[in-house]
Amino acid sequence: MEVDTVKDVFDRVVKKQKLKSSKTIDLVNHVEKEIDQAIKAIQGNGTEGDSAANMTHEILLNLKNKLKEMAPTKQLKSCQKEMNTALSTWVKTTEKLFIHDISKAYRNVDMEPNVLNELIANHLYREALFDIGDSFIGEASCTASLKLKQLFQNMYEIHGALKAGKPELALSWAMKNHDALLQNSYCLELKLHQFQFVDMLKQGNRDQALQYARAYLAPFATTRKEEIQRLIASILWAGRLDQSPYTEFLSPTNWEMLAEEFAQQFCNLIGQSSTDPMGTAVSVGAEVLPILIKLMTVVTAKRDWHSMKQFPFPLDLRSEFQFHSVFVCPVLRDQGGDGNAPMLLPCGHVLSKQSTLKLSKNSSRSFKCPYCPFEAMTSGCKQLYL
Ligand SMILES: [Zn+2]
Repeated sequence: MEVDTVKDVFDRVVKKQKLKSSKTIDLVNHVEKEIDQAIKAIQGNGTEGDSAANMTHEILLNLKNKLKEMAPTKQLKSCQKEMNTALSTWVKTTEKLFIHDISKAYRNVDMEPNVLNELIANHLYREALFDIGDSFIGEASCTASLKLKQLFQNMYEIHGALKAGKPELALSWAMKNHDALLQNSYCLELKLHQFQFVDMLKQGNRDQALQYARAYLAPFATTRKEEIQRLIASILWAGRLDQSPYTEFLSPTNWEMLAEEFAQQFCNLIGQSSTDPMGTAVSVGAEVLPILIKLMTVVTAKRDWHSMKQFPFPLDLRSEFQFHSVFVCPVLRDQGGDGNAPMLLPCGHVLSKQSTLKLSKNSSRSFKCPYCPFEAMTSGCKQLYL
């Protein structure tokens, strides 16, 4: 069930509440009006004599009948009842959305508490929550990599400066790691020099920009010819880049992009994933948990969930959660993995190792490819690595 359904039901409750509230106010106003009219009539009637008493009696009787006819208490009760029904529908819908018992869908995995604590501490450092990470380590009495913490502190210092439009720290880091960064298709060092260069042009310092280009952009002239050509040509527009064909150099989002690119390349160099592993694991878990719980209610009777090595059906995750290719054998329909690698047949078709073993009766004879007329031997198949 989607959150949208809960919102729809809640919107209906709000609508009903507004409707019933205005109906209640109208009703109370109506009762008040009738009483006021009766009071005024009694007051205008005077207070002396039998006829006055009779008139008052009649007015009150009239009021009593009108109120009886309106039945305000009954109407208010009915409004309240309708509100309660709408509210309880919303509560039931919300309860359905939240799964209270997830015990069916998890396995008891033996995991060293220290390893888990270290993962959490590293996650906190990675998220720049250094004080919380330190407190966590103190309270959990665990150890975490001090070096990793220092590296992330360094990364966030440079990242913050870059986002604020100050590339100096990033430049000195990039120049120090010049050789390693050259492996990337996105040349961070050149981009950083470009920002310094463009800054000079923005201020109209043509000579200074030219000198800077000779010193820092020239070494990239052979490997990044096109980018360098555009940068050098933009010197002609010093002081008026905003009217030039090179306005993209001025885009304010460039700093954000550069900061993100820096963080990715920094993580890459220190051998860490640029996306947070624990955050990703939790997000994936939250996404598949409802599916797992449904699966449990269907299959527990037939198969033991705890001995199940893989899901009986493919679980589609969003592309942001996919980090490597997945191979599903077209014959056995199971997912390739350790001990069941994808095998390339001489004809070019790919089957899982289990399939090739079955078709070849445990490698005892040649077999026909299920997808073309070619014959193959298991010895002629090559393992593919995903
Ligand atoms: Zn084939």
